[in-house]
Amino acid sequence: MSLKTFQFYLANLRPWLTLFAVIWLLGSLGLGWLVNSVLIIVGLIFLAPILAFFGFQWWLQRNLVADKCPVCTFEFTGLSNTNLQCPNCGEMLSVQNGHFHRIAPEGTIDVTAIEVSTKLLED
Ligand SMILES: [Zn+2]
Repeated sequence: MSLKTFQFYLANLRPWLTLFAVIWLLGSLGLGWLVNSVLIIVGLIFLAPILAFFGFQWWLQRNLVADKCPVCTFEFTGLSNTNLQCPNCGEMLSVQNGHFHRIAPEGTIDVTAIEVSTKLLED
């Protein structure tokens, strides 16, 4: 190892060495509780994104709705309580109670009853 790379490694290690020195110093001064609380805070900082990730997955599982387009019966997924567009036929749909509904223009009769009967036939 040349002197230059050694200096490079030393420069990288210095913050860590300082950190360990500070922890050791605090521990030797009977301030172990301070080290522990710092470790807990650091742990929480690392855990927070993981918890947020799993929380988001849980939220997504609760809010993801897989259903068929009421117009063309193309099956896809959407988020609950949002408006979306069918990727197959381009119909604007709203997601309510775990099912896709047409955002029917005013004056159009809802076709929910027909959708239910076709589902029963498929089963
Ligand atoms: Zn469609």
